[in-house]
Amino acid sequence: MRVAVLSDIHANMPALEASVRAAGGVDGIWHLGDVVGYGPAPDQVVARLQELGVTGVRGNHDAAAIGGPEIDWFNPDARRAMEWTRNSISPSTRAWLTGLPPTAILDECSLVHGSPRDPMWEYITSVPVARANLAALGTRIGLHGHTHVPMAWIEEDGSVDVVGPGDGSILELRGRRALVNPGSVGQPRDGDPRAAFLILDTEKDSISWHRVSYDIQAVQEAMRSAGLPATLVARLDSGS
Ligand code: ZN
Repeated sequence: MRVAVLSDIHANMPALEASVRAAGGVDGIWHLGDVVGYGPAPDQVVARLQELGVTGVRGNHDAAAIGGPEIDWFNPDARRAMEWTRNSISPSTRAWLTGLPPTAILDECSLVHGSPRDPMWEYITSVPVARANLAALGTRIGLHGHTHVPMAWIEEDGSVDVVGPGDGSILELRGRRALVNPGSVGQPRDGDPRAAFLILDTEKDSISWHRVSYDIQAVQEAMRSAGLPATLVARLDSGS
């Protein structure tokens, strides 16, 4: 089975469409939360994900969008964008976001937004944090997002190997346990502005990371007309 794994789409419709197109023929699409927030098209993105029949989990922005106290942890720009999101989403978008579980287990994979031990909030950005979360992981593979940076943390003879993948990088897991991050579809933060996603091939036990260009200007224009913060508009150019 080949599965496209998308995370942190952040209401960016052109980035979602480009990623789905680039993923090509897959047997399924999984998402790791933060479907909304920051971007100008929450209703369109949720409708498209429903149409695609995706399976996924709730991120901190999704929780905030449906009225959760998570908004109190946001920086001023994220908070402004979230207030806009709260006021603009339709009842059906709200219902769909409300139905997202904090974690999901599919085949040998756990899906979380942040980390296995703290699904909503923890950022996996260091070996000690990765090691603790590999210990907490109830399945062989943990798929997570939240940092907006593509990465893999692989358990190898008691140590943790780190992989920072680029476009086209392939990781052969060969039965090893790992935490794997596809990067962000809608707001990359690793210095590459292209949308990021990964393909998991369960038969080959391999992961490939991909980057795809999309119409950044179209999203920026929609963000400006929605009155979303200028810093959020600008950061899409640099992917940082
Ligand atoms: Zn996010």
